[in-house]
Amino acid sequence: MKITIIGTGYVGLVTGACLAELGNDVFCLDLDEKKIALLNNGGIPIHEPGLEEVVARNRAAGRLRFSTDVGAAVAHGKLQFIAVGTPPDEDGSADLQYVLAAARNIGKHMTEFKVIVDKSTVPVGTAERVRAALQAELDERGVAATFSVASNPEFLKEGAAVEDFMRPDRIVIGCDSTPEGERARELMKTLYAPFNRNHERTYWMDVRSAEFTKYAANAMLATRISFMNELANLADKVGVDIEAVRHGIGSDPRIGHSFLYAGCGYGGSCFPKDVQALERTARGHGQELLILRAVEAVNDRQKLVLGGKVTARYGEDLAGRHFAVWGLAFKPNTDDMREASARVLLAELLQRGASVAVYDPVAMAEARRVLALDLAPALLARIRFAASPMDALNGADALAIVTEWKAFRSPDFEQIKARLKEPVIFDGRNLFEPADMAEAGIEYHGIGRSVLT
Ligand code: NAD
Repeated sequence: MKITIIGTGYVGLVTGACLAELGNDVFCLDLDEKKIALLNNGGIPIHEPGLEEVVARNRAAGRLRFSTDVGAAVAHGKLQFIAVGTPPDEDGSADLQYVLAAARNIGKHMTEFKVIVDKSTVPVGTAERVRAALQAELDERGVAATFSVASNPEFLKEGAAVEDFMRPDRIVIGCDSTPEGERARELMKTLYAPFNRNHERTYWMDVRSAEFTKYAANAMLATRISFMNELANLADKVGVDIEAVRHGIGSDPRIGHSFLYAGCGYGGSCFPKDVQALERTARGHGQELLILRAVEAVNDRQKLVLGGKVTARYGEDLAGRHFAVWGLAFKPNTDDMREASARVLLAELLQRGASVAVYDPVAMAEARRVLALDLAPALLARIRFAASPMDALNGADALAIVTEWKAFRSPDFEQIKARLKEPVIFDGRNLFEPADMAEAGIEYHGIGRSVLT
């Protein structure tokens, strides 16, 4: 099938590359000329395992192309996927300016039937706004072409995006019941047929329910994390090991093991903004989402917990102290630093007078970029970007771990001890066992692991 993807970010690029991998003829549009030039030169703007190979293979096969040409993009695909960003507006609601601009661009150029598929995460009712924006352009041009707007939210996880797209748990598609909606349903059924071969994974629903499903999923996951974080903070006070509790409750199939990890807060481009946007939608309808308000407040507080453990140990004034920080990305296997907990910890340590040496396996370049935006030059000057995890440790008072990269899971503890001034670890992701640390002679501060022995 001929498919156009509008927006070549995490979601658009992965969607385009994976749909090309299935044999479709995919045209990826982006307005960012630098990004398109990089892709056309064989580069990849994001770190995502396996993506480079899929993009290279399908470009070489002529099934995947990148362009800034809006007219050509609209002419190409019968299916027009909108995968542009929906960042938070000042009031927390989803900013739809990019989505609506993409819709207007389609309306400015289309001459025949199209299906517009919202893949971006958008609030309930957005499909109607997309429809109105597009129709206004058609009316202005006096073009009588028909179209349908469908919702197909994306559930991929950064860091495993290609795998998730190729082996989805479920595919959610919302179509309306007009004749155009029926045509949209048939086209989407054909497009996704290869994913449904073993068993049916597609959940068909109305457009509004599909839009809502994405927010409900992210809100549920964020809730599980904040719930465990809040319990972990109490566990620290009452001498309980939250990891033992996690196993104890996760084994109940009604609860399950996933997403029960206590840590130093969730980040990324989705959970924080989607929880806020759903709260905003509710407020717009006179309802307050009390649970989600708490989820957000708990998470904001949780990002301060690691810094709090550092000041509890060394005092409020950290002038003259030096810390090693392992992990900068908001989660492993990505270089994405949006809303990353490391940004909060670094700001606190630096503002209290400390200096830091940081290391992340892939996010170093992105960290340099975002930290230069976050921090005043005088604070930025106290960050050393280390060449390796062990290099970051040299002469540090303690090590703080913020991202659970696999490479940090089994370090050489003797080397850690030799390089740190004192063997102290603040572990924001509970990578190690307190008993093992005690045996290794390391003072260990996890999250919710202050078990009384
Ligand atoms: P992103 O910021 O990485 O990419 C968006 C791209 O759209 C940018 O390259 C931008 O230049 C381009 N763009 C903006 N306006 C455009 C226009 N009018 N025409 C063409 N291109 C345009 O965003 P992302 O992380 O891929 O997220 C996209 C959407 O998918 C968001 O709504 C997000 O919430 C949702 N989502 C993201 C993830 C994720 O893990 N990142 C997962 C599921 C859903």
